[in-house]
Amino acid sequence: MSLSVETYPTLREASQAIGDRARYIGGGTLLMRAVNYGDQSFDRIVISREIDRTIRNEGQGVRIGAGATMADVLASRDAGFLHPVARVIGGPAVRNMGTVGGNLFAAAPFGDFATALLALDATVQMADGQNQPMESFLSGRDRARGLVVAVTVPRVSEREFRFAKISRVKPKGASMMAIALWLRGSGRIDEARIAFGTMGPTPLRAKAAEQALRGRDLTEPGIAAALAVCCDGLQPADDPLATAWYRRAVAPVHLKRLLLETR
Ligand SMILES: Cc1cc2nc3c(=O)[nH]c(=O)nc-3n(C[C@H](O)[C@H](O)[C@H](O)COP(=O)(O)OP(=O)(O)OC[C@H]3O[C@@H](n4cnc5c(N)ncnc54)[C@H](O)[C@@H]3O)c2cc1C
Repeated sequence: MSLSVETYPTLREASQAIGDRARYIGGGTLLMRAVNYGDQSFDRIVISREIDRTIRNEGQGVRIGAGATMADVLASRDAGFLHPVARVIGGPAVRNMGTVGGNLFAAAPFGDFATALLALDATVQMADGQNQPMESFLSGRDRARGLVVAVTVPRVSEREFRFAKISRVKPKGASMMAIALWLRGSGRIDEARIAFGTMGPTPLRAKAAEQALRGRDLTEPGIAAALAVCCDGLQPADDPLATAWYRRAVAPVHLKRLLLETR
């Protein structure tokens, strides 16, 4: 099967060229792998000469261009609270090429950055001007493809945001599970958002656990109810990294460690 490569001067023009059989290329860390494996689901690759890799404070949030790489995130002071996430994505080569935009489309066991963005209630900005909350973007991701130009993340303190990547091969292995937490409140938890990666086809929120944490102390008895329901609504699968059973068994253990971690 032949594969054509089309280059457009702007993101807008590139976005108009994306369709059922055409894929936009970011850093290519996953797309070129698919090409090499002979993926038959597309036969056109779309490139834009215009790439937005800027990261800047904007109002209460931080706007990250979809073309920003993990290395760009690590070099940005404004995105400092996301450094623990970007730092554990692949090795140096992947971090230098892999983009934030591409991570939003990465299937399990990848998508660590997308997991963090889900916990942080980020907004995804599409090339057609539409803005979508991360959660609805992820739920429609595999049905309707569009070009992502940026994400905007609420600026949070390093105390409020926690992230853990659990992998068997360190330091570069894929996630057996990833957990991102956004906790608000001092002493008592006023609001909690919890996202799990690799516990479903896309990153998913643990909504029952979020609810069970509301108004509770960050202590072992305070979080017990949340741990008991933390897998409700998640859809882990069996894969070469772990079985679904194992993932469900260890999820409360890892969530507990992250919640009680001292800051
Ligand atoms: C060895 C290796 C290790 C890895 N380790 C990790 C890891 O630890 N954690 C992790 O999360 N990921 C990991 N990945 C996956 C991948 O590198 C990252 O998810 C990366 O962020 C993908 O970005 P990319 O720009 O390379 O995507 P690409 O390969 O360019 O694209 C991937 C998909 O996203 C689409 N896409 C890309 N950008 C956009 C956009 N702006 N708008 C619309 N669609 C877009 C493409 O069309 C394609 O379908 C790893 C990959 C490899 C090869």
